Amino acid sequence: MTEVTEAAVCSAKGCQEPATWELQWNNPKLHTPDRRKVWLACDRHRQSLADFLGARQFLKDVVPHRP
Ligand SMILES: [Zn+2]
Repeated sequence: MTEVTEAAVCSAKGCQEPATWELQWNNPKLHTPDRRKVWLACDRHRQSLADFLGARQFLKDVVPHRP
């Protein structure tokens, strides 16, 4: 089997689903305030990843991922 596309996949551990969401976050201890780190998420993991970042007050934005 050959890989024809480099589809972005979900950042959740062990998940190979195509990403449909971008979680944009910032750790103020490590990053300047305008810096954005991005985690990609599928529909199934968007909430748990957002909860993880939200609990640490790192989460800035969740936007649809456009390949
Ligand atoms: Zn996933």
